Amino acid sequence: MFPIADTFYARRRVAFARATALFERAGQPDGPSERALQSIWQHQRLRRDELKTAEGQSVRVLHPGFISVEGGPDFRGAVLQLGGEPPRTGDVEIDLRTSGWHAHGHDRNPAFKNVILQVLWDEPTRTTTTPPGLVLKDYLDAPLDELTLSLENLSLRTLPEELRGHCCAPLRALPEEKLLALLQDAARVRWQSKSAQLLARARQAGWEQALWEGMFRALGYKHNVWPLQNLAELRSRWQPGAANGFALQARLLGISALLPDELTRRQKSTDNYLRTVWDQWWRDRDTFADCQLPRSVWKFHGLRPANHPERRLALAAHWLAGGHLLAQLEQWCVADLPDDKLVPSLRKILVGPPDDFWSYHWTLRSPKLKTPQPLLGEARVTDLAVNVILPWLWVRAVEGKNAVLRDRLERRYFAWPPAEDNAVLKLARQRLLGVGGNQFMRNAFAQQGLLQIVRDFCGNSDAICTACRFPELVREWGAGK
Ligand code: SF4
Repeated sequence: MFPIADTFYARRRVAFARATALFERAGQPDGPSERALQSIWQHQRLRRDELKTAEGQSVRVLHPGFISVEGGPDFRGAVLQLGGEPPRTGDVEIDLRTSGWHAHGHDRNPAFKNVILQVLWDEPTRTTTTPPGLVLKDYLDAPLDELTLSLENLSLRTLPEELRGHCCAPLRALPEEKLLALLQDAARVRWQSKSAQLLARARQAGWEQALWEGMFRALGYKHNVWPLQNLAELRSRWQPGAANGFALQARLLGISALLPDELTRRQKSTDNYLRTVWDQWWRDRDTFADCQLPRSVWKFHGLRPANHPERRLALAAHWLAGGHLLAQLEQWCVADLPDDKLVPSLRKILVGPPDDFWSYHWTLRSPKLKTPQPLLGEARVTDLAVNVILPWLWVRAVEGKNAVLRDRLERRYFAWPPAEDNAVLKLARQRLLGVGGNQFMRNAFAQQGLLQIVRDFCGNSDAICTACRFPELVREWGAGK
């Protein structure tokens, strides 16, 4: 066992480490928590050359996978070789016991259908309906207490050094300006492909409809893109005849099946709102029966209240009811704006007017807020700008052969401040750029470039970078080829 200094600090640290969430005992006198198992698995603190499933198959971990931050199996995209089979890419679920598979409903959840290994603590009981199991207890590379000390401060969100991508070293070897220029090149590809998508839709449905569909999709964030796209596609059915923003809200909430059948009976302000919305929707529902979405298309898991679709629809209703969003965007496009005014000036257009209900409620279930909250924050303004508004304005300028406007919009895109960080970006940064990768994310284009590389290269490879040619591309770039 590794000798641990017997000092006051070391003793207190052990005492406090035991109390941390990482190694909570989870009702077992000698067992760790699931989080501890996740940490052990991620950092592979195992005698890796001895691993065997409960059924006796050898387990070779070519890559443990990436910790999942959005529900589903604990690790995504692991590369494992079980017995004499060829290596496979799949997911890994961590459970204290085999029974967790059924008890947590994984057997009925389609998100778990790619699980190729269930990592357990100490119960080898297998059934034919669970994935192969690996009992960690038998394979730790150090006693549990010692692991506690070395792993407790390592965040699960931090990718261990040895799991960095093959491109990390050549990327870090580039001078900063060359690295940023490469990200800029990749971002340009992303920008042009978004623009081409908007242009293709504009050719079918017109510029205005292409913009609305893009705006609705962006409001869906990543969870609810498709239901919002569907609603936008039916805009010409449900928008005409709505007298004001409230009528549009009622229509959109009704069509999208987000309107609860029951009052809360606890929240007076919400119940008043629901009664009025229902009064309106009651009159409209038969007319728009053909537009109705099933409620099951919406995803709520892992959504922040501010991103709930009902709140997003309320904002869309304000945009549409105002009737001059397009004209405002066109004016914004030609205005002379310094870089630090780009986000606030666009936000002023997009934030919508104060709303009697939605300014004080995150969702139809949440309690009334004391202070009003805007319907759109800065982070979503950037998403809308980078993914929809700037590419849409740019491709229109290109089609209209307006070189001045085209260049101005390109400058805005490359000057746009960074978007809010997210799990995909974090992982991409750590895999590709390693520790300190965040220092290069000073603009939205750097983030967009990184995401494009992930899509082009990581998306066509696996966690161990099999056959990925991006490192070669980086070396060529560095050599100025
Ligand atoms: S798959 Fe390619 S781009 Fe992705 S981390 Fe590995 S080497 Fe880099």
